[in-house]
Amino acid sequence: MMNEKELSKAARIVPQTNFVLSEFMAMLVGEKPAIVTSFQNRGEDSFIKTNFPGLFMAIGNGSWYIKEPILAISRNKEFARQAADYLNVVSIEAQGRVLGYPNCCSKRHADFCRDGKALDSSFIVFETHRSSEKHNYLLNNLFNFYSRLGMDQGRFDDFIRYGKVNERILGFYAFHLEYISHIPCRYDCPKSVKIGKRIESILRKYAPVMENNIKYSLAKPVLFFNLFNLVVFDGYCEGDTLFYSKVAPPYFPSASTLVALLKEGNRIVVSDRRISIYNGNKKLFSYKKKSIRDGFIIDFK
Ligand SMILES: [Zn+2]
Repeated sequence: MMNEKELSKAARIVPQTNFVLSEFMAMLVGEKPAIVTSFQNRGEDSFIKTNFPGLFMAIGNGSWYIKEPILAISRNKEFARQAADYLNVVSIEAQGRVLGYPNCCSKRHADFCRDGKALDSSFIVFETHRSSEKHNYLLNNLFNFYSRLGMDQGRFDDFIRYGKVNERILGFYAFHLEYISHIPCRYDCPKSVKIGKRIESILRKYAPVMENNIKYSLAKPVLFFNLFNLVVFDGYCEGDTLFYSKVAPPYFPSASTLVALLKEGNRIVVSDRRISIYNGNKKLFSYKKKSIRDGFIIDFK
């Protein structure tokens, strides 16, 4: 059941917590049956009890979060219980249903899992990019690390460093930069676009300033190397050339050397073999790629 007051309240207070606003709103408006997060015992449950007494919570254990149990939240008691235990559900497709992911996206993810590629984020992003005719900004999930991080402590350290740099710039935690909270099967998946549109309109209504910032970062061409090494541009693409005026947030500390070079230029050309930076017709820098995936442009718009 939609409740205007509850949505306004969520828009006001959720950004100060570890919950992701778009995901929380998706659960409140029924776009997701339940949301799950790691339960770190930092008052997550009392926050829900105090502010959203109509919601149900359940705690479960799974292999994903090694140290912390899973906290599931839903408007429906049974959905909360199922979601808390979702990692114990046998198939990826069934896990996806519990969390409200489109079946095409769950199926694609199940294929990646079967091939042992589920945590190879660079491979997944490249394959998703390559299967898409258009790259809808609503499905830009490159800043949604919760569904992509895995269990590697080194990556968590990268995530913390990335978060600190960007919080100062954005004025909110960088993990709010998303409309959808799943990995889409393609960047033009119709079912995911439908979810993204709904969440965009909810955020625009209840959290317009934040929504504006989210869209600013998501609707931009990106030069992608891997999970924590990418560059977002204020610019546009024509063929294999990206014309830009500046680098845009969020910023990735791993890309800082490249960003320093980019600041001298205004155009970057990316082929399957090479990346070149220009200022006008003057070539400033050229890099020979190690593989086709070693730096490619995704034109989110
Ligand atoms: Zn899909």
